[in-house]
Amino acid sequence: MLGNMQKQGLVIPDLLEHAAKYHGSSEIVSRMVEGDIHRYTYADALIRSKQLANALKRLGVSSGERVGTLAWNTFRHFEVYYAVSGSGAITHTINPRLFPEQITYIVNHANDRYIFVDLTFLPIVEALHEQFTSLKGVIILTDQANMPETSLPNVMCYESLIASESEVFAWPNLDDEQGATLCYTSGTTGNPKGVLYSHRSTILHALGSAQREGLDINCESVVLPVVPMFHVCAWGIPYAAPMTGAKIVFPGAGMDGASLTELIQSEKVDLLLGVPTVWLGLLNYLEQENQVLESVERVVVGGSAAPISMIQAFDEKHNAFVVHAWGMTEMSPLGTVCAPTRAFKNLPSSERYALQSKQGRPVFGVQLKIVDDTGEERKCDGVDFGRLLVKGPWIAAQYFLEDETALDTDGWFDTGDVATIDPKGFMQIVDRKKDVIKSGGEWISSIELENAAIGHPSVQEACVIGVLHPKWDERPLLLVVLAEGEACDEGSILQFMTGKVAKWSLPDAVLMVDSLPHTATGKLLKKDLREKYKKFLIDMAD
Ligand code: AMP
Repeated sequence: MLGNMQKQGLVIPDLLEHAAKYHGSSEIVSRMVEGDIHRYTYADALIRSKQLANALKRLGVSSGERVGTLAWNTFRHFEVYYAVSGSGAITHTINPRLFPEQITYIVNHANDRYIFVDLTFLPIVEALHEQFTSLKGVIILTDQANMPETSLPNVMCYESLIASESEVFAWPNLDDEQGATLCYTSGTTGNPKGVLYSHRSTILHALGSAQREGLDINCESVVLPVVPMFHVCAWGIPYAAPMTGAKIVFPGAGMDGASLTELIQSEKVDLLLGVPTVWLGLLNYLEQENQVLESVERVVVGGSAAPISMIQAFDEKHNAFVVHAWGMTEMSPLGTVCAPTRAFKNLPSSERYALQSKQGRPVFGVQLKIVDDTGEERKCDGVDFGRLLVKGPWIAAQYFLEDETALDTDGWFDTGDVATIDPKGFMQIVDRKKDVIKSGGEWISSIELENAAIGHPSVQEACVIGVLHPKWDERPLLLVVLAEGEACDEGSILQFMTGKVAKWSLPDAVLMVDSLPHTATGKLLKKDLREKYKKFLIDMAD
């Protein structure tokens, strides 16, 4: 027997309608690429998104068509999210940090009709537009006064495009299984793959992520997503914040310590979200300037592992709690959150920091398990580790325009991560499967070694890779970028790491390097380094 309840679709424009009606005066503050700070409300955002939806109709954008964005986190990008998906088309967020050939590939693979572009990224479109096979026009996200000279054909100014449009727009009746937003992974091998989120998956993800056991966002929160809207929709904040009425502070292109500090202090931000590298920059700046973050209560760290030294620095110097979270593009992205509990807060700090360095428990909706290579489930004792598999309503079932499923026969998605799960359900990422170091019969976590090294006061960035060893197959090699003006030697770093990791897993050698390569989403790009240093230990032994 079926239940008797209404079949109300879960669709994206309803989020902004709700925000405008019940939290109409909550603010969206943006640092603009033109240099100024822009400030308006959810009520204003709804009106302008409807004007943009009317403009898209005039341009002939039809249901299911893809519209690209190459833009920072600002209010205009936010309006594009709602107007495009709300009118039935698909917002395709393009990561400007991808290589030019990857950008060309995804724009053509997605069949983008229009691209909304920030002034900063215009040179990318100018350089590549002749290779974009389906593009009809480019809209520059600025006003008439700031319109640049450009040789691009069919260019429009965003503010002029929407200026004379009606503020009335009836969102079409959308099937909530319809595609809404398309985001490509930044694969280190092969072409990027698209993940097409639906309206339904986006709303369920917002509900899951806003809850107390998730990112804990409510109408009194002041949220600063440093994580970009061009990668996994800024972890869904542009949806979860309007759902709850939270104030949003968009940093635009200003991800440096000084710009972030200014925004955080002036807007009284209490919740920060971003990847570890951004927080290292912020912490270094605050240290140099001898400043303390007054309003920040929690810092969500994800994308890469949060080192204990970072958890400690936020706690001891800024009284801010690091909430470690894990997920991936294929998961919209949120999978697990290490949300604080009362018991947690009462632990002695060293035990608490160790717990906070785990990636946490799944938010309701996400199921996890760890398995060995035969698919047999591993024990959840916090020690046994295995391939991490996931299931849930906001997790991809297949990649965009690919026929095969991305799931195994039981419907699980293999994350490519290796993890442990403890008896209380706290998951900890050991490594990416391809990065784990296989030394004799044992596995060494490159993440654990990197996190130990990064705590050394002279170390700015650390990267551990497995390199060939005549006896043990592979052993860890530590590559280190020293902080500006610092000098230290291998012995000092190894000494510092001793006692923090198992003795047998200590790196066989430490190399100082000027810089380390990163992917378009800021993760360490280890593939090329492994190739470059493959025979380092063998050559050293000769
Ligand atoms: P992406 O799809 O680019 O967001 O990358 C997802 C991958 O980033 C995951 O599969 C993990 O390998 C890694 N990742 C994300 N969050 C964390 C975290 N908190 N700790 C360690 N690795 C993480």
